[in-house]
Amino acid sequence: MQNLLYSLVDKNRSWTQYGNVATYIPELSNSNPDTLGIFICDVDGNEYYAGDYKTKFTIQSISKIASFMCALTDNNINKLYTKISCAPTSDGFNSIINLETKNSHKPLNPMINSGAIATISLVYGLTAEDKFNRIFGFLKEITNNPNLKINYNVYESEKNTGDRNRALAYYMKSTGIIDDDVDEILDVYFKLCSIEVTCKDIAYMSVVLATDGFLPCNNKQILSKSICKTVKAIMTTCGMYDGSGEFAVNVGLPAKSGVGGGIAAVVPKKMGIGVIGPSLDKKGNSIGGVKLLEDLSNELELSIF
Ligand code: GLU
Repeated sequence: MQNLLYSLVDKNRSWTQYGNVATYIPELSNSNPDTLGIFICDVDGNEYYAGDYKTKFTIQSISKIASFMCALTDNNINKLYTKISCAPTSDGFNSIINLETKNSHKPLNPMINSGAIATISLVYGLTAEDKFNRIFGFLKEITNNPNLKINYNVYESEKNTGDRNRALAYYMKSTGIIDDDVDEILDVYFKLCSIEVTCKDIAYMSVVLATDGFLPCNNKQILSKSICKTVKAIMTTCGMYDGSGEFAVNVGLPAKSGVGGGIAAVVPKKMGIGVIGPSLDKKGNSIGGVKLLEDLSNELELSIF
């Protein structure tokens, strides 16, 4: 496995030149576009890694999985579905159009920005700070990394340029999808997106879904089997933005990407995978990361389909 990872990272690094790092959050434009790395944790606790797997990057939308896991734990699923649906989208991750024209103003799914902001407002906590601490604490537990930190340069950069997210949140407040103070909920969202991780952290998040709830390194039940099932289904249909269908065909794994270049992918019953490659394709997914996962899936016949 280790040798396979070395050769697949080498083979796919050239793809990074065909994409671009995100610039709409100015601080992300400082990422090195050539970066490509992978970390795998299997259900028996074995670990394999190659390339730039030690590179730190901001978790961005991969935090949406953690928020969704907390919201599923804290709420009756039927209540959750009164605020957010579980339908894929053919529009971009920060699209506004569907909120007005489709689905009774409900965000289509928790993996796009509108859905993630609504998800955070459903997480248990009397104040926005409580909600942040709940999700951040959970993220530290599921990654087995108590040292996770916010990258405050990215946080400030997101906050200064996050007007599209403000528009989504104010719209949802006007239609009763969120009740909270908009600025406070957005602050939680910006902070969660700005948490710094490595491939290992997101591989650990993913392996918990592969085991239906356990983290192999401490064998602690972190999530219920039914929550894992729901999260994997939503990742499969919605996790790679409007590229989810293509990813399902070419890779065939539940996965979630972020505009920092990370991808968390789950091979049910087998392994959790974390990938970094900040050079993104037009849909906002890591271009080298997707190609690397495609090769890995083909080599080891990992597709769930
Ligand atoms: N912080 C990013 C935003 O709100 C997250 C987007 C993403 O990773 O998909 O635009």
